[in-house]
Amino acid sequence: MNKIKYLTASILLSASIAALAADSVDTIVVNGKVVTVDDRFSITQAVAIRGGRVVAVGRNADIRKFEGAQTRVIDAGGRTVIPGLIDNHAHFIRVAEKWHYEMRLDGITSRAQVLQMIRDRVKAAKPGEWIVALGGWSEEQFTDDARGFPLAELDQLAPENPVALQAVYRHTYLNTAGLKAAKIDVGTRNPPGGTIEKDASGNPTGIVRGAGGVAFIAAKVPLAEKQQWMKNARDVVAYLNATGMTAWMDAGGRGMSNAHYGPYRELADRGELNIRIYWQTIRQPSTPEQVDKVVADIPNLKPFQGTDWFDNVGYGESVYRPINTQLLSPKFNTRPEDYGQWGRIARALADHGMYVNSHVEMEGAIDRFLDLYEAINAEKPIKGLRWAFSHLDQVTPAQIERMKRLGMSAQIHTRPLIQGVLMHRVHGERAWSMPPMRMVQDSGIPWGLGSDATAVTTSNPFYNLWFAVTGKMLGDHHVNRSTITREEALIAHTRNNAYIVFQEANLGSIRPGKYADLLILDRDYLTVPEDQIKDIRPVLTMVGGRVVYEAKQ
Ligand SMILES: [Zn+2]
Repeated sequence: MNKIKYLTASILLSASIAALAADSVDTIVVNGKVVTVDDRFSITQAVAIRGGRVVAVGRNADIRKFEGAQTRVIDAGGRTVIPGLIDNHAHFIRVAEKWHYEMRLDGITSRAQVLQMIRDRVKAAKPGEWIVALGGWSEEQFTDDARGFPLAELDQLAPENPVALQAVYRHTYLNTAGLKAAKIDVGTRNPPGGTIEKDASGNPTGIVRGAGGVAFIAAKVPLAEKQQWMKNARDVVAYLNATGMTAWMDAGGRGMSNAHYGPYRELADRGELNIRIYWQTIRQPSTPEQVDKVVADIPNLKPFQGTDWFDNVGYGESVYRPINTQLLSPKFNTRPEDYGQWGRIARALADHGMYVNSHVEMEGAIDRFLDLYEAINAEKPIKGLRWAFSHLDQVTPAQIERMKRLGMSAQIHTRPLIQGVLMHRVHGERAWSMPPMRMVQDSGIPWGLGSDATAVTTSNPFYNLWFAVTGKMLGDHHVNRSTITREEALIAHTRNNAYIVFQEANLGSIRPGKYADLLILDRDYLTVPEDQIKDIRPVLTMVGGRVVYEAKQ
């Protein structure tokens, strides 16, 4: 009986393969070194794609059988093909609000080059138009002159245009026009959580410090009008596609509203979104009264009502303002009543069966969160909800074991890429294993690699892979010794992140049934010298079978 069943099944199977092959496909990619990132990390030559999904992978001859008169043939020319890169934690939705003013310094290691970029921007700018770099860089990445930007120098370069150059999330350099546009003078008081630096006679020096100060300045940069905002959203997506990004999880951010999601939602509705976005509901209560409101509203939240292009997956990331930590100011609040407030929200999320991703960095804070989650789990099991911690720079093996028992995942970020030297200054020896990628990888916990762009890191996923493999920051300082292999890093940025964004059935590897989200690279990720990993660029980026980026030849 069993044998007959088996025979019937195998006849059916070969019949369906023949039917599939006879029935030609939309696109084939041939002559590649296709790194599938499947469970066995198999490497093959070619891919057949129909209706946005991969229907077969294999040797050139096998895949050529799928070619028909209408089939688009993409010849990879011997180049390496990998799955599209997925970032498990970034703040790209917010960035569209001011993208047209942004002068991104991602990966620029020469201060002289930044000065030239400002000159070029000034030439192209309308009078009074802002020129900004809202994070994503640090002084320590400049190899020619590791300094910031004094007022006098900025005034000389940009006498008429307001300039604001925000380093990481720590301080902002302004010129005189910038101070004026931000209405900062002798009499301006410090914003909450920030300092407006002043000289002996009380005049602002052009430097505004602290997370609150940085946010205060960023808020002075005007928001885009609706049409501009739409264009910005398209430009952000195109910028990311060109670096190899095909999906990300958005962690929201301070001051965000529905208006921020609108342009992306509209692109998704029109079928014109060239990247996949998974996002979390953000509410950032600071007081018990605000917590009351959040808790009352949780039963109304309905995640997973979107599509595979644009969907809400749950709740996160800065969960209650008073217990929010900052990596570069390691003191944290330990008041039980504040964790109690977060506990009320977390319990409501558990009751509602929802995912939550929370921002936690230092060892002490991780323990507080775990104590709370274990108490909740004892009443209302959370295993299965895939609750996650983001950042985890100081997570210990014991904490990882506790997370595993709760069915949690670990989202690890490459903040040392620009903050590595600063982290060593603040955390000393321990910074060598912050984040402890090797330990997390060996622990077996579901984990993924992401950026936390665009303020506290850069957005280029190949920088993340380079950091994970070499332990170096931009500008070449060696800052982390807890490195992993190239294969492990690639899996962490693709297949593992597919799980983290609840899309493991659809994304993360090149295999039949999954979406055709893939990259053809300008050099071989697996064999290029380690230091070149960060310079790898896609020559082609495909999302859902659609070519969304092609490098100019
Ligand atoms: Zn965070």
